[in-house]
Amino acid sequence: MKHTDFKVRPGSKVSLKDIDPGDTDGYKGAAEVQEKLEGKLEHIARLQERLYAEGEKALLIILQGMDTSGKDGATKSVLREVNPQGVAVTSFKVPSKEELAHDFLWRVEQKIPPKGQIGVFNRSHYEDVLVVRVHGFVPKDVWSARYEQINAFEKRLAETYVKVVKIFLHISKDEQKERLTERVVDPNKHWKFNPADLKERALWKEYREAYDDALSKCSTKWAPWYIVPANKKWYRNLAVAEIVEDALDEMDPEFPKPTFDPTLIRIE
Ligand code: AMP
Ligand code: MG
Repeated sequence: MKHTDFKVRPGSKVSLKDIDPGDTDGYKGAAEVQEKLEGKLEHIARLQERLYAEGEKALLIILQGMDTSGKDGATKSVLREVNPQGVAVTSFKVPSKEELAHDFLWRVEQKIPPKGQIGVFNRSHYEDVLVVRVHGFVPKDVWSARYEQINAFEKRLAETYVKVVKIFLHISKDEQKERLTERVVDPNKHWKFNPADLKERALWKEYREAYDDALSKCSTKWAPWYIVPANKKWYRNLAVAEIVEDALDEMDPEFPKPTFDPTLIRIE
């Protein structure tokens, strides 16, 4: 299976329970894909340098997934070769009082990458149709209107200068149990554990329904969703790298033409 199979066809109905989070495309283990991954990371770095130099377009990578699904891990692994100067990662937390006093897209808008940059969203405006929906923080008529608002917002981004790529990291409930347990057992991981995560875990089914809807209603041709099987970290990294590499390839950034004639320059 190639990652393009993970792209959610606009208009199709996603049912996450039918998608295997343990899929590895036939690969047996990390060692087998190591070289392939390194090649992709180098290619991503080369394309990013061009994107930065060109200064015309931006790439926005939106990462969503349940707790422990690997949003941080994928960011760290897939962007480890790029020039940090050209990348900004934003992690969206529980909104502040000021953020809540505005429309839900307000805080997101300010973090859209400028021209030449790659922006990574660790969580995003999708939380406003996920956690907010599951907990009923706003009435149904408010959150249900947001799918179209999100599509319109992302369309505007795509029509101006931002390529939007959205990746859902798909893990199983059992895999989450193992990863949460590790966070409790390993003192070096305690900082990653939040007892409140267990309340979200108990709402697994409700989250899955909310994700099914977000992935179905908001995969558009201008801002597609990808579903990446993420039980195996090494495969998740390969798949995310491939999606990012392809997105940059499609953007086809080019070094700008020099503003001087190099044959006329003499450096004494
Ligand atoms: P973490 O990503 O583990 O640092 O946790 C961030 C927390 O912020 C998660 O529990 C999210 O569900 C929560 N969060 C992010 N955005 C929102 C939002 N718009 N409304 C409510 N909670 C949010
Ligand atoms: Mg967390």
